[in-house]
Amino acid sequence: MGLKHKLKLVLRETYARVLYHTGLCALVDRVMPRRLVILAGHCVTAHSNAALAKDMRIEASKLERILAHLGRRHELTTVAEGWASLQSDGRHSLVALSMDDGYKDNRTHLLPLLQRLGAPATIYLESAPLEERALNWSHLFFWLLDRLGAERFVERFVAECRDEHTNALYRELTASGRATSYHLKRVLKYEAPAAERTRAIRALFLAEGGDERALCDALYMTWDDARALRDAGIELGGHTVHHEILARLDEHGQRAEVAGSRAALVRQAGDRAASFAYPFGRRWDWDARSKEAARLAGFTCATTTHAGVNVRGSDPYELKRLMIDEDARLHVLATEACGGFELLRRFGLDLSE
Ligand SMILES: [Zn+2]
Repeated sequence: MGLKHKLKLVLRETYARVLYHTGLCALVDRVMPRRLVILAGHCVTAHSNAALAKDMRIEASKLERILAHLGRRHELTTVAEGWASLQSDGRHSLVALSMDDGYKDNRTHLLPLLQRLGAPATIYLESAPLEERALNWSHLFFWLLDRLGAERFVERFVAECRDEHTNALYRELTASGRATSYHLKRVLKYEAPAAERTRAIRALFLAEGGDERALCDALYMTWDDARALRDAGIELGGHTVHHEILARLDEHGQRAEVAGSRAALVRQAGDRAASFAYPFGRRWDWDARSKEAARLAGFTCATTTHAGVNVRGSDPYELKRLMIDEDARLHVLATEACGGFELLRRFGLDLSE
């Protein structure tokens, strides 16, 4: 970690602690413009999702503490309703919890928690797992990594994969001791040719005795689950059909992925499906064509995974979100929610990423 980055972390931590513990948060909240803060997670820690990366999980009790705290000062809402509400005059700022992909534990573990708090949320559904009980490559990857361990996974993958560039990168990672879940996934996501990556991962998964249907049933909710969530006041949103990096697809491909996920939601859950989340969500994962595809499909707003808060006048197809996982810290989120970091951004100091 570079010195500059370390310094930024220390500054962020100190600043957040001061605002949180001195009550300055309340003061900043009053002087800063009304805002919509969107939290973004994937699942709450449960037995079924133990093989997923740590940054995709948050302890239920931790999430409950965060929402309870933020809910005392701000209005808890959903993404689409929060965005609509931001356009009118209201007193309190808004906080929306969003969860991506459509994990089964969102119904079994998250819903009871939300009901205890009386809090709504937005759940973004990738439609293929619900429609076809089919998984995207990343879940087969996490399953293999959990089963084989990094070293053996690399060995087996390199023997199967026919792309030399990918294999060379994998050998490099192993040689330099950086064969972690994060780096191995990053190579598969951005460096490997998509078709060969998916073929090789699927071949390994089958060779190891993987059962895609069973894994999908363990991880992902069904349409019945989605309808039960909707009936409990949870907002459902689109997250494409196959969780591809949209920016890598041509215009036609992007529109099919985006509109396809909305059509499935409307058909299966009779839902308004007003908001959309770009898969992976970083600036290089989506582009102007993705924004247009979201608008054309009928979504009124779309969320990224870049940190920050949203105000009236923000681009509705580039809404910012704060990622939450095991490492989430309440004082940092509370400082973001009260507009504390936004205040610094106005002075050109961005401590959030
Ligand atoms: Zn996702």
